[in-house]
Amino acid sequence: MLTQPAAKRPREDGPEALAWTRHSDLWLARGDIVLVCDTTGFCASQCILALNSTVFQDMFATVDPAQNEVSEGLSIVRLQDSAEEMYHLLKAMHFRQYIQKKSKPAFKVLAAVLKLSTKYMIDDLHEEIVDTLASIFPSTFSAWSVGKRDYLPGDTDEMYAVELAKTYNIPIMLPMAFYMSSFFTLNEIAHPTTSAASNETRWACSIFRDDLMGLIDKALKDNRAGEKWLFQNGYRRSDGNWRCPQDGCCALLDEPMRDNENRMRRLIVGDIFSPQVAQQNDGSQLPGCQAFKDHVRQYWIALQKRVWDALPSLCGFEDWAAVEAAQAASMATKTQDNPSASDT
Ligand SMILES: [Zn+2]
Repeated sequence: MLTQPAAKRPREDGPEALAWTRHSDLWLARGDIVLVCDTTGFCASQCILALNSTVFQDMFATVDPAQNEVSEGLSIVRLQDSAEEMYHLLKAMHFRQYIQKKSKPAFKVLAAVLKLSTKYMIDDLHEEIVDTLASIFPSTFSAWSVGKRDYLPGDTDEMYAVELAKTYNIPIMLPMAFYMSSFFTLNEIAHPTTSAASNETRWACSIFRDDLMGLIDKALKDNRAGEKWLFQNGYRRSDGNWRCPQDGCCALLDEPMRDNENRMRRLIVGDIFSPQVAQQNDGSQLPGCQAFKDHVRQYWIALQKRVWDALPSLCGFEDWAAVEAAQAASMATKTQDNPSASDT
């Protein structure tokens, strides 16, 4: 027996239509369309939405007030998106500064607008979000290490940032999102409350963390081998410390230095790129000639650069130039490569 095709459901103005209430903030006095998500209605401007999104444009073209659910003369369109995410998208579309760096938007706002601006194909909003995310997860050593970041949202979810970078193809933010995730212990990475990230992403973060420890270990060894001035066997004292080759003014204490390096290997010094790493170890509190201090300081800066330069290799890129190139390619194709356009 053939199954009858299900009768076409009446538009959602039947008795099944869910009751909804006006959103307290996003209800434009001169709006001309009501978007309902879950039980929340937003009154927005068709013109603004349609001008910036062909998806909204096509949607509104099919709205017929004679057939559609109507409220106080305004057509109602029901969407499957979460009300909270839609609020952030509509807010960003009507008030662009909402997601600009200078407004210091929360991470959850950036995530929501990234997701929906991709789905609704709102290119300039997408670019604005990518720009903001790229400043939170910078791709240059100077932007990170001298603390030039515009801001770091208090609710930043680093592992979820890794997931966003992969889902929405934003390679530029990937290395530092991974790096920041590495400060979670494995226990924290596995714990459900730490992040909104999937298990797959948590697993990737665990692997990155392990690889980062290996990378730091190698960088420390290479850095020692590369610093010919400080570590000259002829100037090594019987107690193992390294005497200043310039004038013997003081000695670099080997044991505390190795302790510090071991803390770096285990990722318990915190941010290895912090200027404090170089400052705390530069010997400026100790006696010593300028040449000695300069070399100690350079030693730590060289270490930071070694680790920084190799970070992209832990997430599938040859170097930072390759990350930049991948980002440029992503921006050129983003509207064709739309990961969430099909989940409406
Ligand atoms: Zn000296």
